Amino acid sequence: MISSVNVEKIFGVNVFSDSVMKARLPKNIYRSLRQTIDNGLPLDAHVADVIATVMKDWALERGATHYCHWFQPMTGLTAQKHEAFLSPTTDGILAHFSGKELIKGEPDASSFPSGGIRSTFEARGYTAWDCTSPAFVKEGILCIPTAFCSYYGHALDKKTPLLRSMESLSREAVRLLQALGETDARKVIPTVGVEQEYFLIDKKHYEKRPDLIYTGRTLFGAMPPKGQELDDHYFATIKERVHKFMCEINIELWKLGVAVKTEHNEVALGQFELAPLFSTANVSTDQNQLVMDTLNRVANNHDLVCLLHEKPFANINGSGKHVNWSLSCNGENLLEPSDSPHENIRFLLFLSSIIKAVDMYPELLRFAASTSGNDHRLGAAEAPPAIISIFLGEHLTEILAKIAEGKNYVGAKNGSLELGVAAIPAFPHDMTDRNRTSPFAFTANKFEFRMVASSMSIAGPCTVIQTIVADVLKGFTERLEKSDKIENEAINIVADVYRNHGRVIFNGDGYSQEWVEEAARRGLPRIDSFIESVPCLVDEKCLQIFERTKVLTHDELEARYEIHVETYLKIIRIEALAMCDLAYRYIMPAVNKYLRELAATLNSLEQLSTGCYSRIQQEKIAAICQQYEELNRKCSSIEKLLEKSAAMSADYEQGIFLRYSVVPEMELLRKAVDKLEKMISKELWPWPGYDDILFALVK
Ligand code: ADP
Ligand code: MG
Repeated sequence: MISSVNVEKIFGVNVFSDSVMKARLPKNIYRSLRQTIDNGLPLDAHVADVIATVMKDWALERGATHYCHWFQPMTGLTAQKHEAFLSPTTDGILAHFSGKELIKGEPDASSFPSGGIRSTFEARGYTAWDCTSPAFVKEGILCIPTAFCSYYGHALDKKTPLLRSMESLSREAVRLLQALGETDARKVIPTVGVEQEYFLIDKKHYEKRPDLIYTGRTLFGAMPPKGQELDDHYFATIKERVHKFMCEINIELWKLGVAVKTEHNEVALGQFELAPLFSTANVSTDQNQLVMDTLNRVANNHDLVCLLHEKPFANINGSGKHVNWSLSCNGENLLEPSDSPHENIRFLLFLSSIIKAVDMYPELLRFAASTSGNDHRLGAAEAPPAIISIFLGEHLTEILAKIAEGKNYVGAKNGSLELGVAAIPAFPHDMTDRNRTSPFAFTANKFEFRMVASSMSIAGPCTVIQTIVADVLKGFTERLEKSDKIENEAINIVADVYRNHGRVIFNGDGYSQEWVEEAARRGLPRIDSFIESVPCLVDEKCLQIFERTKVLTHDELEARYEIHVETYLKIIRIEALAMCDLAYRYIMPAVNKYLRELAATLNSLEQLSTGCYSRIQQEKIAAICQQYEELNRKCSSIEKLLEKSAAMSADYEQGIFLRYSVVPEMELLRKAVDKLEKMISKELWPWPGYDDILFALVK
């Protein structure tokens, strides 16, 4: 199937890309738009009108009938309201699209989370065109990427702070480069490439699992005798049904300009990964939303369902999202070590800015990478623990250590590495090894943030990294600007960072218990649950850095705090209620039926007076009844605890109560159900088990 597709021909056909704009827009209009895209200059009304008309004609040629402002509210999903290209004229209807409609929209915002920033009576929210991410046609709709804010200009979405953080980072990074004498530095762009993990299951199984339908994960499920222990799925040959799905995914995403490059089987049965090439943080964020949306949509065409939840199956590898992040200026990667000593001052400064930022704001990073679903994954021997550390590799760490000691370093065996205090090292290429257990790993010329939850938007993690790095860079530049010996001062900064923040560097096994203990000795925070990470949004340190960098105001941060706590409460309640509901209405009736069968068998056996067999039946019945009782007890306990939590006045207090009182009870309830699943006739179990679901795509 894939062989009949010409990638070059289809790539980006549905994107109103730079080359389309260049070809179709009048020269002066194109120039004017580029000024807006590149330098943030305001867009003239006349210019917007011309662009809108050209964009509409292009979209009509691609079969579009409607347009929409495509935005990313705090739900982490994308939202869109379609408007037909219709305008009445005296003698009929005309396809029309104005500059005003392109630039600004006014959806009713009342049903999107606002965290109290916007009262329901002020339902107005505005969407504003983000021309730094291209418009595209998807399923007959011209989608225009937009930012979403309240009537008073408060950010109600994920994109606005992301764009602000990119601006702030660029401003500070350019200042630093200029201080280093790089006078041609005008703009620095964060580059991001996302590896997305996901599960595929057969739709007929999904439809029979109310837990998956309600919550996106299985709330119950006994482990089959064989799981992923043989590692026979990772990178294995892709089965035909999945291959066909992947082919369609590729075609759909290529048409949307998403350069999907890598695809492979993941560790767990039914788990896969997809990775497009990197782009700017903003475009990659939009593209990752498109990836998730397309995975869901295309799966349906193949009678499959895509699960993006972090932990759809207990005891089976969960899913994450690796956010690869770097910085680029005039097409050069600023995190690329090189063999030119001068460029390495720059490299070492940017590297150090990240080390310092990560050590200063680990709570924010931990929060930004998470959802309640990620609580099932972090620290569970399949993902990094909920402790933020950086992997640099021995070699690079040693270089920093020597700089910090003020010593000469003539280290590398291949002879290419020499370091005196005044001389800057020439680095051999590809000196970093790989480490799959670090939450934040330096991988040759970029960082890989490996903690991020699979279902979430990457806007949050990128915003945080960009904000904290921007703030640290500002401090570096202030030091450099005061010094008349730039190179020496740069080395002093690098040395200071290693001395003061080197504790965040860890090159060992991040999944080991020793690391958990070592991290505690180093004073690195460990935040075990998502809910406990949320308050960092409103602590003084965070309020200040977001204000200094102009990324989020106090009001916006407080609103975000409210939204995240509230969402957590909703998710845990839904899961707890679903567990009880399913226990009462599906599991107990199935168990009763089996008990009736056993009782009938017992009766007949007793009539035959075969004492020995009767005893086995009696023991079976007793064992089942014991779990049944436990099940009933846990359901009642969860219901009582939920009532108690609802009576608590503060949302955060409720959240902690749910996490530490209700969630453990849910785990015990699940244990009882999973034991019952192993005791009861497969035929009577109310839905397909892990054995059915996970092995369905192996065939
Ligand atoms: P892995 O070995 O972890 O699969 P890859 O080298 O294949 O890593 O890259 C994974 C992702 O990192 C891809 O999306 C790739 O485009 C992205 N990437 C590569 N270089 C950069 C960079 N300079 N900035 C951001 N992302 C990058
Ligand atoms: Mg990776």
